[in-house]
Amino acid sequence: MTVVCPLARCRTPNEPTADACRRCGTPLQAYVRLSAHAARLFNEGLAAARGHDYTAARDRFAAIVHWYPSDTEAHNALALACYHLDARTEAQHHWRLTLTRRPDDETARRGLACLAAGGTSVETPQPPDPPVSPDSSDSRSVGSPDTPDTPDTPDSSESRSA
Ligand SMILES: [Zn+2]
Repeated sequence: MTVVCPLARCRTPNEPTADACRRCGTPLQAYVRLSAHAARLFNEGLAAARGHDYTAARDRFAAIVHWYPSDTEAHNALALACYHLDARTEAQHHWRLTLTRRPDDETARRGLACLAAGGTSVETPQPPDPPVSPDSSDSRSVGSPDTPDTPDTPDSSESRSA
């Protein structure tokens, strides 16, 4: 087992016992502990979800994506927990994030389809097919960069002179 340096520009593999990255000197032990913590949280979240305790599952997955915003697996799991808690906006947000990194992710695609169809109850492994009309926009490319919720841009017309 090796510990890959967390710096994106470095990514040097190190011994798991190394105090610091042998190439760039980034301290590694805190990172190793955090990774182990995140892995434990993920397992706890999965166990909670299996026991249908989706509130506990959401807490755990939310903590992981806070620390590791690029953890697609955690975003996917968090979205599923949110879905079961009927937190649709949050579920949709995290599934979209999942699809920007993994456009073919089946769970995220089915989840978003169910959300779009207004489905109310979905079991984790096999959500039922949403009752969409045959000519729906289902075949559009998922994960396209046109997000509908663009941030507010400052209104330039504000600075007109009298
Ligand atoms: Zn490094």
